[in-house]
Amino acid sequence: MSVALVTGATGQDGSYLVERLLAEGGEVHGLVRTEDLGGPLAEGLVVHEVDLDTDPADLVDLVDLVDPDEVYNLGGLSSVARSWDDPLLTTRVNGLAALTLMDAARRLQERRGREVRVLQPSSAEIFGEPDDSPQDERTPIRPVSPYGASKAFAHHVAGIERSRGLFTATVILYNHESPRRPTTFVTRKITHTVAQIAAGRADRLVLGNLDARRDWGWAPDYVDAMVRAVRHDEPGDYVVATGRAHSVRDFVAAAFEHAGVPDWEPLVEVHPDFIRPADPSLLVGDATKAHERLGWSPTVSFEQLVARMVDAEVVAR
Ligand code: GDP
Repeated sequence: MSVALVTGATGQDGSYLVERLLAEGGEVHGLVRTEDLGGPLAEGLVVHEVDLDTDPADLVDLVDLVDPDEVYNLGGLSSVARSWDDPLLTTRVNGLAALTLMDAARRLQERRGREVRVLQPSSAEIFGEPDDSPQDERTPIRPVSPYGASKAFAHHVAGIERSRGLFTATVILYNHESPRRPTTFVTRKITHTVAQIAAGRADRLVLGNLDARRDWGWAPDYVDAMVRAVRHDEPGDYVVATGRAHSVRDFVAAAFEHAGVPDWEPLVEVHPDFIRPADPSLLVGDATKAHERLGWSPTVSFEQLVARMVDAEVVAR
């Protein structure tokens, strides 16, 4: 039976991953921040109260204590928008903690003489404003946000640790959404507010850049790609994406339509507070390598994703 250590165990991706690994019958250890201890925790998860923005020694001790076969580093600050407000925290948590974890994993492997595998989730934001679309594993890494820079650092560390003998897999994840997204992300902000409007509890949806185009997929599909990448014969980097881009405006239209709200255009307002200093205008990924090597494909279309997220809001109302 394999032992997994999952950072960010209560986040969107972490919670889906933990559920999956527990269903497989594995021993699963999760890092949970003190503030998240009161929230829902998967039954059977071994909880460790450790913040990634902590004394690195605690993180190293934890890796040694758990003695994992697989490490999934899903903890981190996931909001590009928030990274502009706190670039230092973003870099410590997304960058330095990732380095600490991978370094600890390699030392543990050397000591015990048994393989430790690490999954590092990278992000389409590492490509910044790419010259070409769609992007793939050969696209130059040239981030334009503090978040992108922190993820680019961790991505490079994964490559360096690989050259030092650690099995690292990175998945370059394009936007992946679910009802578990917080409303700091545009998809959940839209579906949440549209459901409020449909119920007569709100009368406007205030957003930033409506023209940005993103490649939005279904989060559990992306978690599946992580597990496939970590268990593949060889380490590697994989773009994980649907290959289809839609604008924020498209998402808004699909959400209102699915909620049955007609004449919604006047309800949408653009406010400068939600416009970012730099914002990639088009991120769309080519997941051919993940498809060919890992047998991975997305299972949920854009229309199904919007419908699922809107329906989840309606149920919760
Ligand atoms: P990101 O791509 O990881 O930054 O995911 P987000 O969901 O935060 O943002 C996706 C896109 O939606 C970006 O291009 C944002 O600029 C755009 N956007 C437009 N209005 C909003 C808004 O009100 N909130 C957020 N979070 N993003 C917005």
